[in-house]
Amino acid sequence: MTHDSVFVYSEDLLNYKFGKNHPFNQIRLKLTLDLLKNVNAIDDCHIIPPRQAADEELHMIHDPDYVNAVKLAGRGQLPEESCENYGLGTEDTPVFPNMHEASSLLVGGTLAAVDAVMSGRAKHALHLGGGLHHGFRGKASGFCIYNDSSVAIKYMQEKYKARILYVDTDAHHGDGVQWSFYDDPDVCTLSIHETGRYLFPGTGNVNERGQGKGYGFSFNIPVDAFTEDDSWLHAYRTAFREVAEFFKPDVILTQNGADAHYLDPLTHLSSTIKIYRE
Ligand SMILES: [Zn+2]
Repeated sequence: MTHDSVFVYSEDLLNYKFGKNHPFNQIRLKLTLDLLKNVNAIDDCHIIPPRQAADEELHMIHDPDYVNAVKLAGRGQLPEESCENYGLGTEDTPVFPNMHEASSLLVGGTLAAVDAVMSGRAKHALHLGGGLHHGFRGKASGFCIYNDSSVAIKYMQEKYKARILYVDTDAHHGDGVQWSFYDDPDVCTLSIHETGRYLFPGTGNVNERGQGKGYGFSFNIPVDAFTEDDSWLHAYRTAFREVAEFFKPDVILTQNGADAHYLDPLTHLSSTIKIYRE
């Protein structure tokens, strides 16, 4: 049966948990699903489960050494000095039990989403547990262990031979995904974010445009702190339309981290729920 949209969810996604006082809390997935059910916006038939990403799928983006380090860390077997090399055990990305299993389930959730769309089962798929755009080839960063978006893009390239447009509207620059495909002309990345002048990760300047064959396929729209809805939407509509017309993708993967909202304590943008509706 073909659906207009599917929603990736299982309670196991809540196991990606850095600790009680960490700002990244997957409880938001459960709260969102509860809300959608309460307003009759979703039925059980729209929900598909995530799956565990295989090691070979993670290796399309991540160093096998790094994947191994995450496995060891999750079992409490990675020495502290090695943790540091891999960006693990920091204040942002602390070690937690079974972190490999929890992280590869998030990646597999995004793979389930892209399979639903690429196989024609649904026109749209939403995985709120994904979007871990700061994950690097061999290093965790900014709450992100494995980069589900980068793995999913590589997966769609190999399995479906697709040209992919990645659009990132999180308040932070989509650095991990940008660097994964910086020299690839078959993946176009567009990130709209608060300027890196005062905000993590500090990159995402307009002059980051790709390199080698990929030059001209990386777009960055940094906006100033305190940017409000109208300016933000103007930048979003214009850039999205022009980049999509230029690149003509087969499929669009978006990362819509909701931290451009004015109530978000970690960033300085002044958007409201209006931009997320759009
Ligand atoms: Zn963010």
